[in-house]
Amino acid sequence: MQGYSAKLDKFNSKQVLLNGFDSAEFAHDLALWNVRHNEVMLLVDDRRGHTPEQHRKIFAIVGDFAKWSGEDLETERFFLTIDFLQESGIEPFSLSYKSEEQASVTVAKQFINWLLDRAIAWNVPLHERPSELTDDIYSAMLMGLKHRSCVICGEHADIHHVDVVGLTGRDNTDHRRNRLMALCRTHHSEIEQIGFEKFDSLHHVEGIKLQEDLLIATGVMTRTQMNEFDAKYYRESLRKNIGD
Ligand SMILES: [Zn+2]
Repeated sequence: MQGYSAKLDKFNSKQVLLNGFDSAEFAHDLALWNVRHNEVMLLVDDRRGHTPEQHRKIFAIVGDFAKWSGEDLETERFFLTIDFLQESGIEPFSLSYKSEEQASVTVAKQFINWLLDRAIAWNVPLHERPSELTDDIYSAMLMGLKHRSCVICGEHADIHHVDVVGLTGRDNTDHRRNRLMALCRTHHSEIEQIGFEKFDSLHHVEGIKLQEDLLIATGVMTRTQMNEFDAKYYRESLRKNIGD
């Protein structure tokens, strides 16, 4: 899920008119995420700020950091927040419900994703599953692929293809063609045994398809590998045409 902000101008039962909507960024992201459906969700900032569930998740993850580093909870939260603000460029916010600067739902969501990303990158043991700690399943799936950590248990993971049954060598597979999921050996065996449908209903995860830029950014494929696959497809198409 990706969010965009704008001011609501007018609406009726057929159309919604937005002011200050960055349509160029939106079009760029649609292409980048390879979005093929056009369903969007309209969230309205009701000024209530971040939700209690988000509050709980933030403190759960910060608590895991504190346990890992030996700092007390508030000191750990202070340093993590500073890093997040610096890296994201977001304005300082408060997690107090009484504060004028209370974090919005969007900021809290970004903070949670950032915390999870860092926890996985730094091997901070999480006592809850990343896919349950985020309310943004796409980010959880992406983080698993990026850090090669199982989306279910956080153990070291390999890339699993949701659409293909069986194992093939990582370098022999064109990852642009399939939905991907990072799974450890145990969960890999499980999905092979019970099938994706059952696995999904049990663990609430989904495979994601990555565009070329993201495959490279997450280190799943290199540009050279893609070029080699393209050259192979080209040779195959030539051979087929000659055969015809
Ligand atoms: Zn696992």
